[in-house]
Amino acid sequence: MSSQILISDVPSKQRQYFRTGATKNIDFRITQLQTLKKVVIENENAIIEVLKADLNKPLFEAYTSEFSSVIQEINYALKNIKNWVKAKKAAIPIFILPASAQIIPEPLGVALIIGPWNYPFTLNLVPLIGAIASGNCAVVKPSEFAPHTSNLIAEIISKNFPPEYISVVEGDVEVSKQLLQEKFDRIFFTGSTATGKIIMAAAAKHLTPVTLELGGKSPCIVDTDIDLEVAARRIAWGKFYNAGQTCIAPDYVLIKRDIKAEFLQAIEKCIQEFYGENPTNSPDYARIINQKQFSRVANLIQGDIRIGGETNADELYISPTVIDNVSWEDAIMQEEIFAPILPIIEYEDINDVIDKINLRPKPLALYLFSKNKKLQKKILCETSSGGVCINDVIKQVSGSTLAFGGVGDSGIGSYHGKASFDTFSHYKTVVNRPFFLDLKVLYAPYEGKLDLLKKLLG
Ligand code: NAD
Repeated sequence: MSSQILISDVPSKQRQYFRTGATKNIDFRITQLQTLKKVVIENENAIIEVLKADLNKPLFEAYTSEFSSVIQEINYALKNIKNWVKAKKAAIPIFILPASAQIIPEPLGVALIIGPWNYPFTLNLVPLIGAIASGNCAVVKPSEFAPHTSNLIAEIISKNFPPEYISVVEGDVEVSKQLLQEKFDRIFFTGSTATGKIIMAAAAKHLTPVTLELGGKSPCIVDTDIDLEVAARRIAWGKFYNAGQTCIAPDYVLIKRDIKAEFLQAIEKCIQEFYGENPTNSPDYARIINQKQFSRVANLIQGDIRIGGETNADELYISPTVIDNVSWEDAIMQEEIFAPILPIIEYEDINDVIDKINLRPKPLALYLFSKNKKLQKKILCETSSGGVCINDVIKQVSGSTLAFGGVGDSGIGSYHGKASFDTFSHYKTVVNRPFFLDLKVLYAPYEGKLDLLKKLLG
């Protein structure tokens, strides 16, 4: 059998299974979530190991951002699912009385989840939790660039779930393209903006709704009214976590001229505190995913390198790097950096900064460090981004109570917790009417009835 036939078989078998209604049962969904939780816990060490193999991901980072985030998301779904699935009563307009109305969430059917390589476990599993909780079947296609994690996900899923319910299809872009030829009921994609456009075009052919969790350049504005040491520590942490390969990492810093020198010193101190004199020896510092990314990133290290700038292609190592005096025209400002390089642009007038941000694609995240409430309000009002975190970074995605997603070029739709349930559900409006009181005013012939109707409707 060719791989083409095999791939098209997967969603069609899932569709048949979905039609049996098995996945709609609430107890079934709960049992599946419990099974997933159990096997993730059983595989904790294996998960940590594959993330080490793919990204040299430090134990602490692997545990918090990949293992624990999945468990917490399952726990949250288990705690809330019985509420989420309830039909909600809806008010009805007077002119259709007597009647009752409700909004019922129903699963969409068969979902396709396509994941990236930077958080290769959690970014496949967290959407899957949403798909399960809302009663769907799912096909998961992890990234080929994190092959150890992809293999482990495939193993965990195939051992514990029947393929007609949840299936992992491993492979590269060609496999992804073959999957996209099939009809799905939701495509949940996490990856680059460029690929997002390809996904959406493919989905359009089947009129399949998409959730696109994309990337982009997330600005970090640093005003003078701050606790400088804390601000520097939080920014350095967010930038160099997972060696900068985080979609919501602060991509670049826009800093008020007066405090730039002091800020740079504070950042340098943080890097030393975090990773020691030589980060290459630190067990807490990740590596670049592959040679292709390494070459791309290494080329961006140019100009006024204030901190770091060391690279080692054999080890896929790029030291925590800070580049000063960057201009908006520099190469590093033309693409998402997705690496441990922090460009610094100084500013005098916040209005210029806002203008520059607004001229660019809407970012996934926007960060502002300032205690000034007026400035906080101004930035919130005058810019648009997927999310905002004030006086910290990345925290806007921590936890299942906070919906996460982009806007414009940084994405379509959102997920986490209830937002995931909504993403994989259709909210069906149901109106139920009794047979009595069948007003003839609504039916033809209409002559003479319009005035009466106008009076009724007010
Ligand atoms: P990518 O777009 O290259 O690949 C993502 C997935 O799409 C992979 O599984 C890949 O096999 C598949 N793919 C790639 N090209 C394809 C094509 N032409 N047709 C069909 N499928 C294709 O992204 P990446 O390099 O894995 O991830 C990095 C990007 O993802 C960054 O831009 C980052 O900001 C973004 N990202 C966003 C989020 C978020 O939650 N918004 C999270 C992580 C990463």
